Amino acid sequence: MKSESQPVPVFDGHNDAILRLWMGGGQTASDQFRSSATGHIDLKKAHTGGYSGAFFALFAPPHGAFKMPAFQPPYDEPLPPELPYDQALQVIIEQAGILARLDRDGLLKLCRTGAELRSAMANGQLGAIMHMEGAEAIGPDLTSLDLLYEAGLRSIGPVWSRPTIFGHGVPFRYPSDGDIGAGLTDAGKGLVSRCATLGIIVDTSHLNMAGFWDVGDAGLPLVATHSNAHSISPGARNLTDAQLRAIGDSGGVVGLNFGTMFLDPGGRADPSVGFDLFIKHLSHMIDLAGEDAVAFGSDFDGAPMPQCLPDCGRMQSLVTALDGAGFGADLIKKICAENWMAFLDRTLHT
Ligand code: ZN
Repeated sequence: MKSESQPVPVFDGHNDAILRLWMGGGQTASDQFRSSATGHIDLKKAHTGGYSGAFFALFAPPHGAFKMPAFQPPYDEPLPPELPYDQALQVIIEQAGILARLDRDGLLKLCRTGAELRSAMANGQLGAIMHMEGAEAIGPDLTSLDLLYEAGLRSIGPVWSRPTIFGHGVPFRYPSDGDIGAGLTDAGKGLVSRCATLGIIVDTSHLNMAGFWDVGDAGLPLVATHSNAHSISPGARNLTDAQLRAIGDSGGVVGLNFGTMFLDPGGRADPSVGFDLFIKHLSHMIDLAGEDAVAFGSDFDGAPMPQCLPDCGRMQSLVTALDGAGFGADLIKKICAENWMAFLDRTLHT
């Protein structure tokens, strides 16, 4: 189905490119984004791979000696401590500034609505939705949320894996599931309610299971921007069948995470995982959530990628694999971009 000259456009539910640019020094962010030897995402690779838009995450990393685990199962890493509000806010302001600078330099287009995104992508611009992974930069009075909204923020994960005043995240644990304790705090319920009022998506990737159901009980569509099928890879970050079904029933979307440890049935960060596993997860997610609710959430620049898809320049190899697996042209277009874009059309107001 795929014409060699015309890549199928891809809209990605999650990347950490801004974190990588921030760690490399904000002054050079635009240069690093034009072309990067080691990054999973830059403009050149995006053009080659048909990578046309994405949720770009802002993320204040743990400080001190925290190291990502080696993902050799079984594992159960302690969560990093809570990050103080003032420290998180400083990092998030700097990272939002990087996104604004990339927009000003014409390297991407920061979009606030589905219509803006469609227009940017139609003009050949890389469309960006500003996401924040972990809400440490928001205090209990939620005032910084209003400011970040004005700066373009349209999606929030109340927690990354460490706890916040809003809720609890899942640890790096395999085998496990997200059923590990209490759900959203009262402050977390207030945050979700304020997000619903402003028109900010609430992302449940990294939230524990009770928090996931709390978001659904608040009447919001259930969205997991970068999570996989627990029945195939039973780690704490992946979603049970009941969660996948609820995402579809609520009109939400789940984005397939390309991180090797979330794909591998044994939970290992095994670089040799192949497209057969991508297809296994996608097929299962479609069976449970429906074909309008499944998309991509790569975790580029935030997780170890498999050799078959080392960066966004190779996205069309995945398209070819889906084609070979018999997904069909219409379903491939939905998974690659249309499901996210339809969701953004109905979710983001001006
Ligand atoms: Zn994440």
